[in-house]
Amino acid sequence: MSTSSAPLPQTWDLSSYFPSLTDPAYVDFKLRLSADLKAALASAGSAAAPTAGGWIRLFTTWEDLGSRAAHLGSFLGCQGAADTSSERVQSEEAALALVDAELAKLKTRLVLQLRAFDDNAFVRLLADPGAANASHTISRLRAEATYQMPVELEALASDLGVDGFKAWGRLYDTLSGRMTFAMTFPDGRQEQVPMAQRRALLSHPDRAVRQAAFVGGNKVWAAAGDTCAAALNALAGTRHTLYSRRGRGDFLEAPLHDAALSRSTLDALFAAIASRYQVPRRLLSLGARLQKTPALAWYDLDAPRPLNQPVPTYTWDEGVAAVQSAFDASYPKLGHYFRDIVAKRWIEAEKRAHKRSGAFQTSSPVTREERIFMTFAGTVNDVVTLAHEAGHAWHTHVLAGLRPCAREYPMTLAETASTFAEKILVHGLLSEPSLTRDRRAFLLDMETNHTPAYLLNIPVRFLFESRFYEERKRGVVPTSRLCELMVQAQREVYGDVLASGEEDPWFWASKLHFFITDVSFYNFPYTFGFLLSQALFARFRKEGPSFLTRYEAFLQASGRASCEDAVQSTLGWDIRTPDFWTEAIDACGEAINDFEGALNPAR
Ligand SMILES: [Zn+2]
Repeated sequence: MSTSSAPLPQTWDLSSYFPSLTDPAYVDFKLRLSADLKAALASAGSAAAPTAGGWIRLFTTWEDLGSRAAHLGSFLGCQGAADTSSERVQSEEAALALVDAELAKLKTRLVLQLRAFDDNAFVRLLADPGAANASHTISRLRAEATYQMPVELEALASDLGVDGFKAWGRLYDTLSGRMTFAMTFPDGRQEQVPMAQRRALLSHPDRAVRQAAFVGGNKVWAAAGDTCAAALNALAGTRHTLYSRRGRGDFLEAPLHDAALSRSTLDALFAAIASRYQVPRRLLSLGARLQKTPALAWYDLDAPRPLNQPVPTYTWDEGVAAVQSAFDASYPKLGHYFRDIVAKRWIEAEKRAHKRSGAFQTSSPVTREERIFMTFAGTVNDVVTLAHEAGHAWHTHVLAGLRPCAREYPMTLAETASTFAEKILVHGLLSEPSLTRDRRAFLLDMETNHTPAYLLNIPVRFLFESRFYEERKRGVVPTSRLCELMVQAQREVYGDVLASGEEDPWFWASKLHFFITDVSFYNFPYTFGFLLSQALFARFRKEGPSFLTRYEAFLQASGRASCEDAVQSTLGWDIRTPDFWTEAIDACGEAINDFEGALNPAR
């Protein structure tokens, strides 16, 4: 379908941020932000016992300064992604990092000042008109204040963290970044391959390539096992110490706070998944049948399914038209918005040198505009990415009228609107009258592809991490025990679909997520978001257009309430019960049925 005369993908217009990085308007904006931030820090330092009004004023200033810094950050993020070779952008970003550090200090002051308000005074603070639509954020800040050590100890912990806690994370990054492994390709060729390429090799269509990358890579991870175990034990040990000093009851409390989620919801989510492991396992069994093995090895889990259909290609205009018509048909308001952002050139999609890989949506709280970054090469995946990022932009747009703090949603709710938009597109493509059987199988493969990652792989990580953190309370957990815990979790979750003896005992070492110092229990928000999106879309298909008003109300509430309250108050669902989640998993099961049906039309 592609022709050489077809119009090129869109490049974006950033001029409403600033005309350029050297423009006086940009320089002036930066200077004023720094000066105002300095003044705010000075006034925050002088108020020992703030009044409610004084605290709210400082809070509002912090919101405003944060918005202005986000405006700069979004602009620089766009510039940097569109031209990775620009040293100017890099030095501007370094300067902005200092502004962000000052903003973090202001936030710390705000949190500390909240300690001056007892329960009654805090209720009065929340009743202040200046706190309208901010009670969720302010309550979260107060919770942070509750779980802090005395100021000097927090400062010491933060200083020691540079050469202690954070250093273990950096050590892991350095170690894994330099790793290479000996790879013997099926044709006998031997090569020393950077570890960073292993992931791509593990999803290679040739099983022998995947196996060689798995075996070769794991030899290196095993050799580094004791070092990785030392890092992992140090990270968990430090967290345990700090949690106990800060009065946190459990190692899941802080990650749950970040996710704006309660323990009972998390338990319900994982209980429902455990009761339905057979749903994602069925898709993996299908993969085993297609590759003609009785079960899968760990290195088969990311294998592409061998489907023999042509990959359709799109010109930019055809890709935009596909997204447009799917949105128009199912969700006219989203279609209207999408037409608008294409017309205003808010999308950067051209394929050219010096662009960053990947895709993202960004926005400015100052101009209240969104931008989408991606590289459009003409595959169906690119069209899906366009719909996905448009969904993120729509979420931002729906929140645009609210005060800054009410526009900040947790990671748990971050992928809801994007996945929803993606599903509208895929269902639009599936309902095309000219759809061939092969194309249908291809689309359903794409639709179901990630289910095992969310419903099996992430639960393995969660089980392993929870059990490891529990055992770490009693002392250092040796390397061999870490491998044992990992294999145990894999057997439990994957069951017979994972061939016995073909587990990955070194997964805890090779998976970077376990070594991230900024976030603990990095993975579960993704499974939460994935299943919530499935539930939303299933309900939309059942209820039709009348559902969309409630859906938008939910998006609007995403920065103003816990996940439970945001869902309950707008959609009326109780996500604390396993039943809610089993229904969402069963919706995934239906897509898997459809995929099986498309592969075996005779059935
Ligand atoms: Zn996304």
